Amino acid sequence: MAVNDILAALDIDLAQWQGNALTARSPRDGATLATLAADTAQDAERKIDAAHAAFAKWRVVPAPLRGEFVRVFGNVLREHKEALGKLVTLEAGKIQSEGLGEVQEMIDICDFAVGLSRQLYGLTIASERPGHRMMETWHPLGVCGVISAFNFPVAVWAWNAALAFVCGDPVVWKPSEKTPLTAIACHALFSKAVREFEKTHPGVVPDGLLQLLIGARDVGAVLTASPKVPLVSATGSVRMGIEVAHVLSKRLARSILELGGNNGMIVAPSADLDLVVRAVTFAAVGTAGQRCTTLRRLIVHRSVADQLLPRLEKAFASVKIGDPLAADTLVGPLIDRASFDAMQSALVQARAEGGEVRGGERVDTGHDDAYYVRPAIVRMPKQTAVVERETFAPILYVLVYDHFDEALAVHNAVPQGLSSAIFTNDMREAEQFMSAAGSDCGIVNVNIGTSGAEIGGAFGGEKETGGGRESGSDAWKSYMRRATNTINYSRELPLAQGVKFDV
Ligand code: NAD
Repeated sequence: MAVNDILAALDIDLAQWQGNALTARSPRDGATLATLAADTAQDAERKIDAAHAAFAKWRVVPAPLRGEFVRVFGNVLREHKEALGKLVTLEAGKIQSEGLGEVQEMIDICDFAVGLSRQLYGLTIASERPGHRMMETWHPLGVCGVISAFNFPVAVWAWNAALAFVCGDPVVWKPSEKTPLTAIACHALFSKAVREFEKTHPGVVPDGLLQLLIGARDVGAVLTASPKVPLVSATGSVRMGIEVAHVLSKRLARSILELGGNNGMIVAPSADLDLVVRAVTFAAVGTAGQRCTTLRRLIVHRSVADQLLPRLEKAFASVKIGDPLAADTLVGPLIDRASFDAMQSALVQARAEGGEVRGGERVDTGHDDAYYVRPAIVRMPKQTAVVERETFAPILYVLVYDHFDEALAVHNAVPQGLSSAIFTNDMREAEQFMSAAGSDCGIVNVNIGTSGAEIGGAFGGEKETGGGRESGSDAWKSYMRRATNTINYSRELPLAQGVKFDV
């Protein structure tokens, strides 16, 4: 399916977005998909103003009705899953099942948000004063800025947007400059949902509820600096997160930071190695190592290393690499040349630090400007500098351990804290890994890989990963402001803490 057919299936008129500032390219073959205009700082300010104006109307729409709109949006996504999934594959290079999987995640979070729209509960709290009642109410917060990364070009936006919409917040979205077309497609599907909803609920969804900012980090910087944006949810590199956090902290705005990971897995002596081979292979090579939750460090007990490593090396050497549109491909392309160069320089450093590298070489697909690689598996003598940083490519560093405490210490001794896993059938090890003295990550799995989180749980990580949580559980609370209400239904005015005063 060519890009024009996909755009037609999604009912997108690209004319209003076209220009010469930004090229949407496909990592699949390096081809140009579209040339687009970018928003100027003035355009961005204007769009933020429009979202801010929408807030005054949207915040007073009853939450279940806001949920009803999100239900309609979810249905529009269902109808266009195939085409949007294909566009993700073309523009981000993810294999087809992952492109479709991203759209499924969008649908799932819409369903979650619809239910949530009737469950934005506050507490009732016992008052210490007679004839008084205390309660919490949750109110819409304001414009939610969303900055997203290239590797989850649509799902991460939906995680934020579906919750923001039911919570009563408009959204201004700055997608990655590497994946503008999928964002334009989401914007078009959103507009379609608005038109659909209008048929039964005219005038409920205000103009400007979703704004899209096309451009590079300078446009994102306008969003983070705007006093009209009380919350910015930013997904991307640690470097970006630190820059964004500085700007937000100067104006004391809220942030949800979803930054880099350096995810580890411990393989204990009792592990089921058949499961381990499957889990490691998908978690390390899937999405060509370009997931924030990609497995990057394998910490294997010495007693099983000699059995496991040859099996993994065989699996890494045999995975099908190539066209992400082909049904049997497991590993698609890296996003661009810079990503390939970063991978190669990490491998040079790994060798210099004593690593034994298998794989990692470029795979020729006949396209000069497309970068396919054989996933690399690298036995390291210890956790050196290169292992401690996130290289956004399929490199799995392998370390061997003798004692569980040592494995845990190595696992936690990196600056990032997103996802983690242990494979063990020893209940004590599993429980210890999940305990207060165990993995220091936001996602802690047992007998399952590090990637592929479900939307029902809160997603995010600690340390340099930024501490934000989005998606399921009670992540919605970040998108609302909490008011504590005290109501006096007595005929007295008693003060709290027993304070007395006479007038
Ligand atoms: P990136 O940091 O280069 O860009 C991410 C987004 O931030 C882009 O939209 C970019 O334009 C914008 N941006 C960059 N600097 C900015 C600034 N100063 N102000 C405002 N906006 C700015 O990241 P990337 O290369 O697109 O994505 C890969 C990274 O994202 C990896 O580190 C990966 O681990 C991380 N990631 C994390 C999660 C998570 O949930 N923790 C999910 C996906 C990706």
